Amino acid sequence: MNNIPEFFGCNVFNETVMKAKLPKNIYKNLRRTMGKSVPLDAETADIVANAIKEWALELGATHYTHWFQPMTGTTAEKHDSFISVGANGTALMEFSGKALIKGEPDASSFPSGGLRQTSSARGYTAWDPTSYCFVKEGSLYIPTVFVSYTGEALDKKTPLLRSMDALSKSAVRFLKLFGNENVTRVTSTVGAEQEYFLIDKKKFDQREDLILTGRTLFGAKPPKGQELDDQYFANLKPRIAAYMADLDEELWKLGIYSKTKHNEVAPAQHEMAPIFTTSNLGTDQNELAMEVMEKVALKHGLVCLLHEKPFEGVNGSGKHNNWSMSTNDGQNLLDPGDTPMENLQFLTILCALIKGVDEYADLMRLSAASAGNDHRLGADEAPPAIISMFLGEELDAVLKAIEEDGVYKTHAQSFEIGVNALPSFPKDSTDRNRTSPFAFTGNRFEFRMVGSSDNIGCPNALLNTIVAEELSWFADNLEQYKEKECFESELKNLLKEVLRKHRRIIFNGDGYSPEWVKEAERRGLPNYPSIVHCMPHYTDEKNLRILRKFGIFNRNELTARTEIHLEKYSKTRRIEARTMIEMARKQLLPASLDYLNKLCQSIAAKKEIGMTSKAEQKIADKLNELCDNFYDSIERLEKIVADARKISDVQKQAEFFHDYVLAEMNIMREIADEIEINMPQDLYPIPTYSEIIYNV
Ligand code: ADP
Ligand code: MG
Repeated sequence: MNNIPEFFGCNVFNETVMKAKLPKNIYKNLRRTMGKSVPLDAETADIVANAIKEWALELGATHYTHWFQPMTGTTAEKHDSFISVGANGTALMEFSGKALIKGEPDASSFPSGGLRQTSSARGYTAWDPTSYCFVKEGSLYIPTVFVSYTGEALDKKTPLLRSMDALSKSAVRFLKLFGNENVTRVTSTVGAEQEYFLIDKKKFDQREDLILTGRTLFGAKPPKGQELDDQYFANLKPRIAAYMADLDEELWKLGIYSKTKHNEVAPAQHEMAPIFTTSNLGTDQNELAMEVMEKVALKHGLVCLLHEKPFEGVNGSGKHNNWSMSTNDGQNLLDPGDTPMENLQFLTILCALIKGVDEYADLMRLSAASAGNDHRLGADEAPPAIISMFLGEELDAVLKAIEEDGVYKTHAQSFEIGVNALPSFPKDSTDRNRTSPFAFTGNRFEFRMVGSSDNIGCPNALLNTIVAEELSWFADNLEQYKEKECFESELKNLLKEVLRKHRRIIFNGDGYSPEWVKEAERRGLPNYPSIVHCMPHYTDEKNLRILRKFGIFNRNELTARTEIHLEKYSKTRRIEARTMIEMARKQLLPASLDYLNKLCQSIAAKKEIGMTSKAEQKIADKLNELCDNFYDSIERLEKIVADARKISDVQKQAEFFHDYVLAEMNIMREIADEIEINMPQDLYPIPTYSEIIYNV
């Protein structure tokens, strides 16, 4: 496969194709639209639509679909064929500018959090020309936003696009302070490292919990044996490698620069990382990548699990959201520069981030919150649920020197931190602290909290908004001194003030340690262990203020979103609880009672010939007790789930699911896992952990 450049992006209506297929003036019109999000005029739209159609037909497409990212958490599509009625009963293949730009899917079943009354259930999809159309499985895919009749956001893309505009405006204004007069656009960028599990489809099919909830609700921890690990590497590798090769090829065809692939920490866990791109494209591509990962797995007789915590006792999966900002003249704004002025700009942006992450830690936390991620954040392997920042020793020393008017020493030199003598510090010398949720990694920040199955639109939208706010705060405070002699000293005072106030968010130690939880509490940093605790803060006045200020969400949109997230939490837990009850009643309890029965018969038979088996008697006693406890737990869980139904307040219901339903689920699981340990393998009705994760 050494013809990659030839087939890379062959299914994408990208820049090259656009240039080749569109008349020059039309291409220019379109390009202008893409840069600034101004609407496309009707004539241009028709010509573009026709060109896209011709191109798609050549690739075998018969249909087109608006492709959008509703609040369900997955993507949505509804396919229409290009076909229309021609003269004398013939068929024509048609595609108008109108059909390209706007769609009206029957959208009444998508979650809207009350934004759409069913009496006016219209939702609209609108082409997002900043993201490329592509052909997949016989259809032309048109990336769109999804909004209500009154223009309120019903999806995850709209707020992201709004935030990118807001960030750009603030950043362009901010950069002028530092003499960057020519920058007209700043774009946030993202590279999302995607973790996933691969398991055998045959095993998957035997587990109702995996099928219905994406995670195992039962399953005792496997014995940790070196032999098992050996077996894992010997047998697994070729099949995984074949999968990964296939995956790369499919992603490349779709124009996704899949770059890195490797096995992850947990058995059966792997990672794919693409080369970063704009947040907008990066979000679409990550959604697409997840879909392709799942589909390619099926071709290999595998199932790709994107759930944040498919297996208890081994690492869960996240999505490291690498984030930065690029200017249209090619600067990466998180790249420390080579000159003092560039460094000053960089350090100011850094302080803006420190201030922002500290002031809006709750927004950052809730941007990564989900029922699935609740099992991961704050557990042993993932970042803690407490937001903090890691900067590395070098940067920390520079900031300390600024804060304390001190001296910054590199190996070679000491610098008086006057602004004229800002050091050019060594780049990328940052130690990698893997326990930090928000870590500086040389030329970008890595937000590690995001869950593996999550849409990255929300975290990036909120991060962009926070940074937009802080950059405009600096501009507000500094514009009066622009080009004056005192600019640098005023800036330095401001940086000092910010650092003194917000230094508490910086933490370079072990984020997994229990000491950090105490220390964070002492510093007054918020710690929201679950989505049900952090979600109510979405609508806190300070958060509402910036989200409204930059036009990301109005109050209705924000309330709706809060509600949707909480409802989703409750629904997820209810499905999980009901799945547990069903598996317990139909599979696990009958199997254990069967085995108990066998034991009892054998004990009775032995008794008749005057024999006793201590082992059988002990297992029988133990199992009998476990089965009784198991039964009680099933009954309790049934009752609690029924009680949850009666609570109408969305927040209270989610809290109830968290405090009572989940708690009973954990009790039930513990009992079941002990039953599993006491049962013979061939009588246990579902595949065990060892069979699933060590035995692909
Ligand atoms: P590591 O595992 O060491 O963090 P990876 O190579 O697996 O490194 O992932 C790093 C990710 O960060 C890649 O997706 C890469 O493209 C992305 N990245 C690099 N520079 C930037 C940037 N300026 N903005 C956003 N993402 C970036
Ligand atoms: Mg990384």
